[in-house]
Amino acid sequence: MESLFGDQDLYPPESGNNFADIILPVPIPRMFTYSIPYSMQPEINLGARVIVQFGKKKVLTGIIGKVHNKPPQAYQAKPILEVLDDTPSVNPLQIRFWVWMAEYYFCHIGEVMHAALPSGLRLSSESKVQLNPNFDRETSKFPLDDREIMILDALNSKPELSYDDCEKVLSIKSIHPILKSLVKKEAILIFEKVQEKYTPKVETRIRLKPEIVENKNALQEIFETLSNKAKQESILLKYLRDVPVLQLPKSNINGLDKATLLEEGDSESSLKTLIKNGVFESFKVVVNRLAEEEPESKPAVLSTSQQSAFEEIKHQFESKQSVLLHGVTGSGKTEIYIQMIREVLDSGSQVLLLLPEIALTTQIVTRLKKVFGSQMGVYHSKYSDNERVEVWNGVISGRFSFVVGVRSSIFLPFDSLGLIIVDEEHESSYKQFDPAPRFQARDSAIMLAYFHQARTLLGSATPSFESYFNASQGKFGYVELTHRFGDASMPHFHLADMAADKRKNLLKLDTTRILRERIQDALAKQEQVLIFQNRRGYSPYIQCEDCGWTGQCVQCDVSLTYHQFSEELRCHYCGYKEKTPSSCPACGSTQLTTMGMGTERIEESLSLLFPEARIGRMDLDTTRNKHGYQRLLDEFGSGNLDILVGTQMITKGLDFGRVTVVGIWDGDRILNFPDFRAGERAFQQITQVAGRAGRREVQGQVIVQTRDPDTQIYAQVIKGDYLEFFNHEIHDRKKFYYPPFVKLVKITTRHADYKVAEKAALNLHHGMAEIPIKKIVLGPEKGIIARIKNQYQFESLVKLDRSGNTPVIFKEYLWKITEELKSRPEFRSVRFVVDVDPS
Ligand code: ADP
Ligand code: ZN
Ligand code: ZN
Repeated sequence: MESLFGDQDLYPPESGNNFADIILPVPIPRMFTYSIPYSMQPEINLGARVIVQFGKKKVLTGIIGKVHNKPPQAYQAKPILEVLDDTPSVNPLQIRFWVWMAEYYFCHIGEVMHAALPSGLRLSSESKVQLNPNFDRETSKFPLDDREIMILDALNSKPELSYDDCEKVLSIKSIHPILKSLVKKEAILIFEKVQEKYTPKVETRIRLKPEIVENKNALQEIFETLSNKAKQESILLKYLRDVPVLQLPKSNINGLDKATLLEEGDSESSLKTLIKNGVFESFKVVVNRLAEEEPESKPAVLSTSQQSAFEEIKHQFESKQSVLLHGVTGSGKTEIYIQMIREVLDSGSQVLLLLPEIALTTQIVTRLKKVFGSQMGVYHSKYSDNERVEVWNGVISGRFSFVVGVRSSIFLPFDSLGLIIVDEEHESSYKQFDPAPRFQARDSAIMLAYFHQARTLLGSATPSFESYFNASQGKFGYVELTHRFGDASMPHFHLADMAADKRKNLLKLDTTRILRERIQDALAKQEQVLIFQNRRGYSPYIQCEDCGWTGQCVQCDVSLTYHQFSEELRCHYCGYKEKTPSSCPACGSTQLTTMGMGTERIEESLSLLFPEARIGRMDLDTTRNKHGYQRLLDEFGSGNLDILVGTQMITKGLDFGRVTVVGIWDGDRILNFPDFRAGERAFQQITQVAGRAGRREVQGQVIVQTRDPDTQIYAQVIKGDYLEFFNHEIHDRKKFYYPPFVKLVKITTRHADYKVAEKAALNLHHGMAEIPIKKIVLGPEKGIIARIKNQYQFESLVKLDRSGNTPVIFKEYLWKITEELKSRPEFRSVRFVVDVDPS
């Protein structure tokens, strides 16, 4: 099997090795070599956590990334201090994947490790000091100086101190010599304290004292003593109702959790009295955070076309590692996934299903949960860290052989993946922007599958150019589904000409006549409506009608976004906010108006046009908490809302039978974005939003409002002709050297001083221009946003030839250039941020 990215050297564990390279959480782009003490040799496993000394006095926890026999050349290797794991926390396949990711995305392996481990598994270790119990100040033969006495005094009031604490006690920086001297004088001991951050969830449970259960009369006696204590009696009765102690004495062992026992409003103090009087006892157990569920429905029977697509995918997997499933919206891709997953699980391998942003697609998770039950783990971006650790451990223990997750779930400790499915593979949210590793989860998944000798299934109604191109070149298999399931028809498109309506005085609150009519019709028939507005670059802001003043962020070069609900102006880049002024801060005029049209304004306009309609809004602001999405989806799904206005969030995988009208508020906004992918994105977004319409019997209506109805892309979307669109676009990509024909690397230079940032960026540019490989270097240009969080930024874009090891050579030179620049005093605090395959 050939890999798309080329393969690295492997690091198989070998025996009899004297050195280990340790991955440490430090921002230095390499591993560090330590020697393996002879006594530890049997314990040294790839992926195990170890404690090592780093620098003069730091003690760090790291992970063994490689074992070998080569002593380091530049320094004397220090010994590993301790091995923490018998069984490694991280398996060799993961290490291999990390190494690849650091190489491919030009980042440090420590950064990959940081992203990969849930923080509950990251260990922090610190040296601590404590008094030596055998030490007696009075009788000691060693004289102590003032500083030493201060440390000992501090240790008399606190059982242990960290190095930092000691430095604070003396207000000096270098504490090491003093502590060393105290150790020599046998006054203190130094020890390592390693803290696990993961805390299991503990539940308090209540049960009858065992002697009461053993003796039938005892219970009788207790009831007699409680005859005039109604509250205590009611608790005891509740317990006996829920736990069948009388019929089954053993059931008392597990007892009842305290919350359930008290849920009928019984008081805690009555329970306390019962415990005090020896009736009940309380005990603690560790419980799973993730609820258990049993599968409740069987997978659907595939239609003929689904079945043949399914067979075809399997057939292609015989010769290809990856297959692209190109199926129109509503064609039933999910049902095909379910069958594939079933088969792979039955063969004993693990499965990972990646979703763009899981909170947005809870519908699909519910569907899968019904089929796979508790064998399926869910890895959510909004999960608490403890919940993530439970999924992580569940993968290791075999509890979860199937995980549905967001992009970071590619880091879970799988050891035998058979299949990775990337749903909505075109989604740009698979790319991580910040911080490093700036990885593309779809591309990384393909590599991960390669390491596992597994298969990758990429599914989309609107494939990314990269994937479609790979399929057209024969690198990927390709399977198509051209019809909706159950012959639901594809939606009907209308281009609504806003400029024409405006001339004829038909435009009301930015709605065209046809959009209003269609909404009206749908409401009359009790059908539902989705209104989509692209979020990017389109936020409402406040402007003074008299002098043109607009609110600007104090630390970024962007205008502040107006939030009507909270009466605030907020910066979407750094979070800065201020109260909306009642008069213009520049000229004092009170004529302030809202410009731009965010979802909030659309909601307002619609409620003016359709006063009787129930309208909901789904965007970043209304879904900030974990349950926000679910609540809105439930309301809409159960018919409590007639119209849902939303951003990108409503395009993703929603399946509501009663949606018959989809309005795209401003089609041109989607197209006019200064990016080489604008066309691809527009095609994808419009097709995806439209795909939410008419997914059952009634044909859906899609209204695209535009001022430029003749744009070619609209015609292609309406025809649903992906291939024509692709052929047209790919021609331009080739002509202007864009992916998939070249590999892009974006380097952003940042500094608080405009001149310094610019100069560093220019120097970088000249350096890169001289690298002896085939490439084009563009820029440096001011960032789309010139200043973010008080940092000016300049962007350079490099187009690399894809062939051979051009990227590897480029990377080596790039390190050298940036390191050299940073060694100059004037550029010391300049930051260079490298983004490979930016999107
Ligand atoms: P896609 O993921 O391709 O957009 P879905 O898998 O969501 O499509 O399917 C669209 C609709 O058709 C869903 O409501 C789904 O339950 C239904 N459906 C798809 N395949 C089947 C099948 N084989 N049997 C019954 N219902 C199906
Ligand atoms: Zn003004
Ligand atoms: Zn800001």
